[in-house]
Amino acid sequence: MLRKIALEEHFLAPGLIEYWMPTVAGLDPSIASRLYTRLNDFGEMRLRAMDTAGIERAVLSISGPGVQAERDEVSAVRRAREANDFLAREIEKRPDRYLGFAHLAMQDPRNAADELERCARDYGFCGTMINGHTNGLYLDDPRFAPFWERAEVLGAAVYLHPCDPVVPAPVLDGFPALRRATWEWGFETGSHALRLVFSGLFDRYPKLKLVLGHMGETLPYLLARFDSRAKLYGIKLAKPPSQYLRENLYVTISGLCAPEPLYCAVGALGPDRVMFAADYPFENIEAAGQFMESVRLEEGLRAAVAFDNAEKLLGL
Ligand code: MN
Repeated sequence: MLRKIALEEHFLAPGLIEYWMPTVAGLDPSIASRLYTRLNDFGEMRLRAMDTAGIERAVLSISGPGVQAERDEVSAVRRAREANDFLAREIEKRPDRYLGFAHLAMQDPRNAADELERCARDYGFCGTMINGHTNGLYLDDPRFAPFWERAEVLGAAVYLHPCDPVVPAPVLDGFPALRRATWEWGFETGSHALRLVFSGLFDRYPKLKLVLGHMGETLPYLLARFDSRAKLYGIKLAKPPSQYLRENLYVTISGLCAPEPLYCAVGALGPDRVMFAADYPFENIEAAGQFMESVRLEEGLRAAVAFDNAEKLLGL
């Protein structure tokens, strides 16, 4: 079977359950309970699911929003640290199968930088996953400078994961089925990434490695549009927006198992920029594995997307 590394695979740590519960409030209780069981398992159930999909290694990240939804900064810092210690102990039991992304209290950017470094140094974590805005603050805000500076020095991958917007857009009123993963999260998260580009973040920290799921949250499709409008509006950047997206952005499949957006992402960003992810347990892990095995791709490129690109990005 094709070797795979999966980059968006979620778990829950004991101190983070209260932040997660509201995210499943609208779901059928049996579905919510099934997700809860899988998120809390690091043993047989998860490993068997990985085996079914041919996933050799999974980079584990907390299921959001985690402490980013916490109003009390001191609790956020403490609980993030506890979650990282918890994950490190689980990884230690299966270091051959599991890797980790650090969970950070972005309320305190300097602490987030220190915790990112501690997790890389002491636990060998691969970077961090950040669940969108933190109490309404986006990552282009100047107060996050200490975090970005450290992420660049460490060469840490920063995976920007969707979250609910601060205020739901009126255009989605009356259409709950269009909210969240259907459409809302893609716009929210793609917009967040574009704020980073248009704020000049990548001019200040040119070696940053940003990762987006869901085949790039529609950005690869729109590169030419960003360039033509940045020019029209006289945006002061050293390069056209598309160039930052080609040089600083990586994307994963995570639940978007369809050939057209895969070809678009590979074509727009390059063959070394697209990676595999299943988004366990929210998406069908077996179907993700089968998609990766069977989608029409040149075999070298298939291996790159499934394994080699992640191996290189994460420095495994
Ligand atoms: Mn996810």
